[in-house]
Amino acid sequence: RIIIRDSHTHKACHPKNFTDYDTIKHEFKFPQISGHFNFAEDVLDKWAEKEKAGGRAPNPALWWVDGQRREVQWSFEELGFHSRKLANVFTELCQLRQRDRVFLMLPRIPEWWLVNIACLRTGTVLLPGTCQLTARDILHRLRTSGAKCVVTDEFLAPLVDEVAPQCPALNCKIIVSHSNSRRDGWRNLQDLMSHVSSNHVCVKTPRDDPMSIFFTSGTTGSPKMTQHSQCSFGIGLTVNGKYWLDLTARDVLWNTSDTGWAKTAWSSVYGAWIQGSCVFVHRMPRFDTSTVLETLSKFPITTFCTAPTAYRMLIQEDMSKYSFGSLQHCVCAGEPINPEVMQKWKQATGLHIYEGYGQTETVLIAGTFKGMDIKPGSIGKASPAYDVQIVDDEGTPLSKGTEGNIGIRVKPHKPFCLFTEYTGDPEKTAECYRADFYLTGDRGYMDEDGYLWFVGRADDVILSAGYRIGPFEVENALIEHEAVAESAVVSSPDPIRGEVVKAFIVLTAEYESHDKSQLVADLQTHVKQVTAPYKYPRKIEFVEQLPKTISGKIRRVELRKREWSTKPEAE
Ligand code: ATP
Ligand code: MG
Repeated sequence: RIIIRDSHTHKACHPKNFTDYDTIKHEFKFPQISGHFNFAEDVLDKWAEKEKAGGRAPNPALWWVDGQRREVQWSFEELGFHSRKLANVFTELCQLRQRDRVFLMLPRIPEWWLVNIACLRTGTVLLPGTCQLTARDILHRLRTSGAKCVVTDEFLAPLVDEVAPQCPALNCKIIVSHSNSRRDGWRNLQDLMSHVSSNHVCVKTPRDDPMSIFFTSGTTGSPKMTQHSQCSFGIGLTVNGKYWLDLTARDVLWNTSDTGWAKTAWSSVYGAWIQGSCVFVHRMPRFDTSTVLETLSKFPITTFCTAPTAYRMLIQEDMSKYSFGSLQHCVCAGEPINPEVMQKWKQATGLHIYEGYGQTETVLIAGTFKGMDIKPGSIGKASPAYDVQIVDDEGTPLSKGTEGNIGIRVKPHKPFCLFTEYTGDPEKTAECYRADFYLTGDRGYMDEDGYLWFVGRADDVILSAGYRIGPFEVENALIEHEAVAESAVVSSPDPIRGEVVKAFIVLTAEYESHDKSQLVADLQTHVKQVTAPYKYPRKIEFVEQLPKTISGKIRRVELRKREWSTKPEAE
């Protein structure tokens, strides 16, 4: 296996917070919180005090741009001012009480961050949803959560109105609209804010009280409603902010994920603000490669976080047109990143991509922390937040090198930064636990050096003629071929072997018109050369695009279902 020594990065490579892994793993301690914890009061307001006393370098707390010259820069003090007003809107004008649920569906606009903080200040429970939800999705979320309040914009308000009569708990609808348009039954946020004061006393929230309910990405099925406590992300994401994102109060972090996912809370709320960094936001309604590359070269962004699928798109561009003077650190999470993509990104920017592995249910489970040697293809080492072990289906730890379930130890003490429950689904919650472990549903193994290797989601692993094949390894081999822009590998029925490997491939532009049967043969030979030959895809289909979740993750489950719903092909 290749090991990249971190010192080989030729740009500013010195980690700011990392010494060495063993020291961090053994000495890192979360602050002890026994009674109450509130991120707004205990973290954000503390940064505002530091800022006032001159103890923080001049750096906005939130820096928003829309790509059309509109820009907002707020200090921690200003964030405090606006969010205290909004907290008063919630309690005085909307009669929301502690633990009431607030459903938030807004694009990347500054108000999204204000609603997050106002919920913290009032102890109301935030449910962020993506703006791409349909009326049916909204109905499901509002009914299951019993949300009392919804905050959205003028484009989504009609969808809420379609289903609102079926949601008896919903009694407050707030619209964020910068035009003067009014909508019956809705209260305008700007109007409401002009009627309240900026004095507000943050409520005392017990540390284990619910803080947020996030929706999983829905890669394997319907998104699950995942509840986290007040201290879970607010303290637990210290590891993300400090070691994986390597942030300080001087940094500017840009994370591109959609406001509907826990990933935005991970990086663009908690991870960054725990460290006092600036959260940079681009309105960008749709992921656009040239906007991303221009933004990275135009603004003093030091830290960039995006999804593997986004990196795959970015390296297809001519990156030599851009310079990335401020950029010091790049990370990704959410899916495996192909070593080939890391290499191309490094060639273009001089920077490695540091991988993070985690779930909506957790904070970072494993990662390559800046300063640590990288083994491309590995998800790095266990986060100091958790005791991560590879375990069998009964929850018994397995030896190094053996493939099993990626698990987190929960006995004798359940880590405080693990989710509390899937809302309204105790059976599903209970199914995640086996003996002393929480099982992630992902398969992997740990090597002799303690690095973890992701094999695949348990359901995605292919069993062919007695071999277990992780789709990721085959996809990594395929993308090394210049004809392949991206691929998804799934099992396909076979009369003799039971299952065989099938690859769905999106071709790079220059190969689109090549002879397909020749390409199939070339790609099969290529995979046999770069990985164990038994893994080569016996079936290959070229497609225009791969099925993905709204957050851009490949839905292998969809391709697999398609394969297995048709009759097995004769050889
Ligand atoms: P659902 O649970 O609804 O099917 P999801 O699991 O994709 O969707 P998330 O919580 O957003 O929802 O994603 C967590 C999952 O993403 C992990 O369990 C893992 O399968 C995958 N993942 C995250 N980071 C990585 C990574 N670095 N490498 C490989 N897989 C990753
Ligand atoms: Mg999941």
